[in-house]
Amino acid sequence: MTFSELRRSVLDADLCASCGACAAVCPENVLTIGPDQTVPLAAPGLTDGTCGTCTLCTDVCPGRDTGVPASERRVFGRTRTAEERWTGIFRHSYRARAGAPAVHGAASAGGAATALLVAALEQGRIDAALVVGRDPERPWVPMARLADTPEQIIACAQASYCITPNLQVLRDAPYERIGMVGLACQIEAVQKMRNLPVPPPVAERIVLTLEIGCASNTRREGTEHLIEGRLGLPLVDVTGMKYRAGTYPGEFTVRDREGAEHALPFHELVLEFKNFKTFRCLACPDWWSGLADISIADGDPNIFRTSREGERTDKASAVLTRTAEGQALLDAAVADGSLLVTEEVFLPEESLGLQRKRHRYASYARDRAGEIPTSPVAEEEAVDTLEDGELIELMSRNP
Ligand SMILES: Cc1cc2nc3c(=O)[nH]c(=O)nc-3n(C[C@H](O)[C@H](O)[C@H](O)COP(=O)(O)OP(=O)(O)OC[C@H]3O[C@@H](n4cnc5c(N)ncnc54)[C@H](O)[C@@H]3O)c2cc1C
Ligand code: SF4
Ligand code: SF4
Ligand code: SF4
Repeated sequence: MTFSELRRSVLDADLCASCGACAAVCPENVLTIGPDQTVPLAAPGLTDGTCGTCTLCTDVCPGRDTGVPASERRVFGRTRTAEERWTGIFRHSYRARAGAPAVHGAASAGGAATALLVAALEQGRIDAALVVGRDPERPWVPMARLADTPEQIIACAQASYCITPNLQVLRDAPYERIGMVGLACQIEAVQKMRNLPVPPPVAERIVLTLEIGCASNTRREGTEHLIEGRLGLPLVDVTGMKYRAGTYPGEFTVRDREGAEHALPFHELVLEFKNFKTFRCLACPDWWSGLADISIADGDPNIFRTSREGERTDKASAVLTRTAEGQALLDAAVADGSLLVTEEVFLPEESLGLQRKRHRYASYARDRAGEIPTSPVAEEEAVDTLEDGELIELMSRNP
């Protein structure tokens, strides 16, 4: 097996999740995802698809085989039950908010992700955090980076709703203990690395995994369409961009050369972005991987409705601890005041993003079985699937 296997089973099948894991682990360093690409390209010498006897890129790839059951057996000693299909296996479930006003203010929701990373850094558990910031040359382009100060982590708070091959950054990371925040596919790739008899060096350096729920990601053209098509701004005039700036749940906001801000309501972003999805994201089986030390989502289960109706809700995060290490970090963050929590049950049926994913996956499983990524459970429940727009409207009606 060689790179040709990855090409055949994942890339040619349109199943690349753009996680960047293959580029991070390749011992020959022949795979790269360039700044304007979303899939790995092989070095010119590899055009015939032969690079020896290595199988690493295919082994760690979550594009077709997410590896969730094998990872669950290793991490939890069992696989999830049918009832745990959309939550995964967890210890405790909380509603949380960052204790520090600067963190809470900078975040998309309650700031749990940022507060936990900062706490992990300040408590000496990690040397750096893998987060998503912006390309300094093109401030509308999200870009993964390793942040090694609390200020840098806080500057990268907020969700970036744009495909970025984050794990690739780990390849030459000059840190021994890295905490990462990622989406389901990225966490699945890291866990697949750990499932190997000899995990690649990159995997050994990731000592903390946080994940954020993912309804689906969006190609960069989606962001560029909002800037050029909806706000009427040339990209060269952009000096700053946030997906959720201002009053919660925030607006898509772009700053121009004169310092003026141009904004679009978040609910409009959600509908516009529907035109810029990849097949892999649409057919994605997991909202959370269920394999991170701690999983996080917005405490408001339907920010589309909140944005459209102009309701105000408490800016909070939903947080599930899964491993002993995750629980220890959360307990320590609560003890030092960086995170404020109350126990609260997480309800998958109320989460719009999760339900969009559930309905989409059920519809792909029905119509295109064999062409889509694996489910974390042996048998999917039967779902009377609703078309995405219909589901959004149904769940977003005013009570
Ligand atoms: C594509 C996408 C889809 C999402 N879908 C949902 C959903 O359906 N429902 C829901 O409740 N939440 C969803 N989220 C997550 C949500 O937007 C919040 O990020 C989450 O609730 C955490 O809030 P917080 O205030 O605790 O995080 P914050 O403290 O604001 O921190 C967020 C962290 O995530 C990192 N990050 C941002 N973008 C990315 C990215 N693309 N890949 C990896 N890391 C990133 C940031 O660098 C930061 O460290 C989605 C996020 C993304 C990127
Ligand atoms: S990981 Fe191995 S099989 Fe894949 S491209 Fe690199 S050398 Fe080739
Ligand atoms: S899903 Fe990840 S590991 Fe697989 S080909 Fe794409 S970038 Fe590489
Ligand atoms: S939808 Fe799935 S494949 Fe796409 S970014 Fe989210 S977790 Fe990854």
